[in-house]
Amino acid sequence: MCRFRLRQSEFSAEFTTGLETRICPYCSAEDQNGQQSLDVPMRHRRFWRLSPVCTHSRHGTFLRDIRLKKWGDQLHELLAMRDLIEAELLVPKNVEPKAPSPFQAYVEDRLEGHSGPSWLDGQDIHQASRAVEMLGGLIAFGPRQKAAEMTLRKWDEAGRFGWGLVVGGEADVAAFPKDRARLFGGEGSVESHRWHPEKCCYNRQLKKPISSSQKGHLPDAL
Ligand SMILES: [Zn+2]
Repeated sequence: MCRFRLRQSEFSAEFTTGLETRICPYCSAEDQNGQQSLDVPMRHRRFWRLSPVCTHSRHGTFLRDIRLKKWGDQLHELLAMRDLIEAELLVPKNVEPKAPSPFQAYVEDRLEGHSGPSWLDGQDIHQASRAVEMLGGLIAFGPRQKAAEMTLRKWDEAGRFGWGLVVGGEADVAAFPKDRARLFGGEGSVESHRWHPEKCCYNRQLKKPISSSQKGHLPDAL
């Protein structure tokens, strides 16, 4: 499996945006402002390659995923995507400027070498992030939401909800299925079964091990 390394962290391609190129179109427009030639490269930013990074902190906008659907997508060359970027600039923002989620901030800070909650810091960054997003997705959108149909905005929301639970520690995560069961008809009911993180549609991503040596404690806590 292809592995990436950033500072002291190593992760698989699943932790990146893959063939999608994630951009802030307003940053790209600023890169081009005042340039004599339209061929001046537009800068990609390394954190935009990471799947948990959904918001650009300075502009307060959701990032956008673009793709030419050609072989060159793997190069993430913004200049080749100028038309797509210009099209994104025409899309209404529709939301007030928003700060990155605490979860996104944690991922970026950790990759910059800063420490966060020790329980999370002790785990593989990909495994911990995936668990935050999947639990948050379950809380925010319910057990019928398919992970494959999540938009960037929904992943951002999932990160916010998941962080609220996971940052409380292992005990809070472990209590989550029982709390949900109590809310939805008691343990053993059909609805509580759907809400259990081990049974719901998010489970495939949550429990799928990255590698046996990197399996974290979050799935175990469930
Ligand atoms: Zn920006």
